[in-house]
Order: sequence, then structure tokens, then C-alpha cells
Amino acid sequence: MKLAIVSDIHGNLEALDTVLADLERRKPEAIFCLGDFVGYGASPNECIDRVRPLIEGAVMGNHDDAAIGRTALEGFNHEAARAARWTTEALTREHHDYLASLPMQLEWHGARVVHATPSEPEAWHYVLSPAEADFEMLHFTGPLCFIGHSHYPGTFASHGTRSLYTRQPKVTLEPGLRYIVNVGSVGQPRDGDPRAAYLTWDDATGELEHIRLEYDVEGAAARIRAAGLPAFLAERLRWGE
Ligand code: ZN
Repeated sequence: MKLAIVSDIHGNLEALDTVLADLERRKPEAIFCLGDFVGYGASPNECIDRVRPLIEGAVMGNHDDAAIGRTALEGFNHEAARAARWTTEALTREHHDYLASLPMQLEWHGARVVHATPSEPEAWHYVLSPAEADFEMLHFTGPLCFIGHSHYPGTFASHGTRSLYTRQPKVTLEPGLRYIVNVGSVGQPRDGDPRAAYLTWDDATGELEHIRLEYDVEGAAARIRAAGLPAFLAERLRWGE
């Protein structure tokens, strides 16, 4: 079955619309969202409106949790905290309640799906190194876990002892190995590539593909500035950092 996973949309409508147009062409049978629908970007309500009817399910991200007032802003940098307060004000009641209803992690088509880590999803840790991946491999049972949060697309593969990391855009999952796959960010890529990112997964063949798409970065940046959000949040979209 052809599947797709999006994450870290961050209220970026221009990036999301580009990804959704690509999904319309590829026609996956189901789509999942790994959270961070909102935060940083200027279109939180529009993004939830667009993506919610198209996804089979979603989990909670730390910016979603902050926007509904549950995650404290102490751990956020200055710009992120300002954006979180702005998002809390902007969110409609309906969208607030939708975000509040999201689970921390789920099983989806035989894979663990979680925004940050399977070990302690509500602590919002990052999985950036093979050592961190080794630890997280102990906290789910199947062969595959999809994550977001760092906005760095890539794959950790474990042969049982230690994990190897690859940023190859195409990976074929091998039987007997276990994987943690970061699907990257639709709305605020941070790997030095400003293009919107998402992942396709064929659960029959084991083929993964990290899709990257150019989108209207200037439009998204202009909307951030017009909303009175920190200018840095507009700038970083151009750098992809
Ligand atoms: Zn995020």
C-alpha cells in the first residue's frame, strides 16, 4: 500500500499547499501527520483546515501542545515563544480542541508513529545521533518508527547492536533490520535545504522516499512579517535552517 507521512507543517500554508498538490498527483492510499501543525508560521487555522480532512490520523507535536497551553514555553527560544503566544491567540476553538485531542503516539500500518521519541514522547527529546537512536530502538517493538521534531530528514538503521545513519533520499527497508525514520519538515526545513519535505512509504515493497519540493518561500515569509511575527522566522525559511 502506498502511504505518505507529513510532519512539522508549522502553519506554513504555501509549503503545505505545494505538498498537498504533490500528494494529489501521487495518490497515496493514506496519509499520516506527525504533529507540529502550528507554531512559527502565520497560517495555523488554514493549515489545519486543509490537512485534517486528508489524513488518516495524527499525533501531538510540542508546538501543538504549547499552542493549547500545555507545554510550558520555558524550553522555547524567544522567537518560538512569541510565535506560540501568537498562535494561541489566533487558533479557533475548533482547532484548539482538535489539537487537544491528539494522542502522543500510535501504531499506524504496523509502524510506531510519534513526534519526538517513542521512549518519552511528552519530554520532546531529539533523535540526532546513532547513540540516541540505539536507545530509542529499545522503546518500540516492531521494525519501524517514524518521527519528526528535528526537521532533519534521514534514516537510522539498526542491525541489533548499533545504528547507522543515512540521509539518502531513497531507502529500501530490509527484513530483519529495525529503523527510525525522520520524515523531515513540510513548513520549516532545517537541513540547509529550504524545500518542503515529506516522506512516501510503500509498506509492501519497503521503499521509502524523501520528497523535496520548491514552494513559494517569499509568500510564506511575507505572511509571517505581515502577521507581526518575528522577522527571523521569515528569514530562516530562505536558508532552510
Ligand atoms: Zn517542529
